[in-house]
Amino acid sequence: MRKKVTIIGAGIAGLSAGCYLQMNGYDTEVFELHSVPGGLCTSWKRGEFTIDGCIHWLVGSAPSDDFYKLWNELVDMKNMEFVDHEEFMRVEDKDGRSMRVFTDVNKLEREMLEKAPEDSELIVEFTDAVRKFLKFRMPIEKAPETSNLFDALKMIFWYVPYRRALKNWSSISAREYAERCRNTLLKKAFEYMFLSETMALFLVMTIVWMHKKSAGYPVGGSLRFARLIEKRYLELGGKTNYRSKVRRIITEGNSAKGIVLENREAHRSDIVISAADGHYTIFEMLEGRYIDEEIRDYYDNYETFPSFVQVSLGVSRTFESEPHALVTPLKIPLVIDESVTYEDIMIRTFNFDPTLAPEGKTVITAIFGTENYGYWDNLRKRDRETYKSEKERIANEVIEALEGRFGDIRSNIEVIDVLTPSAVMRYTNNWKGSFEGWLLTPKMGLRRMKKVLPGLKDFYMAGQWVEPGGGLPTAILSGRNVAQIICKEDRKSFTTTRH
Ligand SMILES: Cc1cc2nc3c(=O)[nH]c(=O)nc-3n(C[C@H](O)[C@H](O)[C@H](O)COP(=O)(O)OP(=O)(O)OC[C@H]3O[C@@H](n4cnc5c(N)ncnc54)[C@H](O)[C@@H]3O)c2cc1C
Repeated sequence: MRKKVTIIGAGIAGLSAGCYLQMNGYDTEVFELHSVPGGLCTSWKRGEFTIDGCIHWLVGSAPSDDFYKLWNELVDMKNMEFVDHEEFMRVEDKDGRSMRVFTDVNKLEREMLEKAPEDSELIVEFTDAVRKFLKFRMPIEKAPETSNLFDALKMIFWYVPYRRALKNWSSISAREYAERCRNTLLKKAFEYMFLSETMALFLVMTIVWMHKKSAGYPVGGSLRFARLIEKRYLELGGKTNYRSKVRRIITEGNSAKGIVLENREAHRSDIVISAADGHYTIFEMLEGRYIDEEIRDYYDNYETFPSFVQVSLGVSRTFESEPHALVTPLKIPLVIDESVTYEDIMIRTFNFDPTLAPEGKTVITAIFGTENYGYWDNLRKRDRETYKSEKERIANEVIEALEGRFGDIRSNIEVIDVLTPSAVMRYTNNWKGSFEGWLLTPKMGLRRMKKVLPGLKDFYMAGQWVEPGGGLPTAILSGRNVAQIICKEDRKSFTTTRH
């Protein structure tokens, strides 16, 4: 008898769990609230333009990275086209000075030393750390939950050479590291490389992946990538149900037995996996009946990635001579909402992906993090006019800033799109509109979270709410790990097939 598994969420983690379970003889069915796969890994059409809402870089895009093997199990990686940028981003200041954050560590070191010689010690400390981690490999082949003594010994052997460096770089945040810089451009570079609340280890690893050219951008964008994984899932015999929001998980005798949709339809199964939002799963679908102190502590006291406002423009001109990612000062600070005001703007120009706009045209985006999900959601629900006018105000201020920096913008605009935290929530149901789950802060450290809940059998969680730091590689890994755990419990050996 093949066991039946219900999977909640067709994000990358849910599709991954589905693919690997299909490969191992389970019958799986995915229920997704949205009308398309991908979850946060998404894009959307506006007129002739495709606006991308996710992938800036995909760790594992090249065979030199261990995640390549995993992606290759779900997507035909040989036929994927990736863009590896020479510059990760460029930062500018009010005095017209700029610093290029090269992806090659040697070029980056030269540029930083030239532009910020007063911080040479800090720069060399950073680039030395990058060089040290170039050989670092993550043991991802086997789920830690299925490890034996031999695996544990291997893990210690792997960990020892990096123990000190991992500890040092994970106990300080990117912002704290940036604060040490005397040079303001260098400070800005470190602050904008990733979220400044994350551990500085993430800055180091970002350049490691970039230097190895193993974190490219997949041409075609995020939804196309998600659809390739969905295709693989369907070919393996999986079933998808879209516009199917799960309201409740059926439990009997403290075992998960299936799900109930918002339209009250019930679907029974032997196992349930939630690859959907963690807060909604634990506190709504399971009504908070299966938690302990540790889980409560996470949801009460740990920081999550913020939500965001994204302004996207479709313009009838190109920006070939401009960097694809630019942080530049605003003449007038931009108030996003009462919780956050920006003095700089991060602009992305998508000339490097010709599939997103017709020839001679470009998509430009500017993204602003905000913790104030509640404000945006209330505004949309209670005062649609102000919600609309606030979106217009922010778009206008962004356009003004782009006009000042590039010129020739306003007259070339064909499409304007403003995404708010309220939309992130509506389309992905992520708690507080968060874009990546648990923030990898020094307080979070490098801890692992459990993929099961206390007292509940035949139930597992996958995705960014059980993998601190989130991201696409951990989404595929987490779905694969859950499949390995289930196989182990059923005394089956876990197998994979190549694409
Ligand atoms: C702007 C932006 C840029 C990013 N850039 C990168 C990047 O460059 N590289 C990278 O690796 N990562 C990036 N990420 C992060 C990455 O997209 C996410 O961490 C990852 O996609 C999370 O996958 P997931 O499957 O865990 O969760 P999700 O994508 O959130 O999937 C969960 C799915 O469950 C569905 N769902 C929720 N509740 C229910 C319910 N009740 N019933 C049915 N379905 C439900 C949701 O609709 C969703 O489809 C970015 C994210 C954003 C927003």
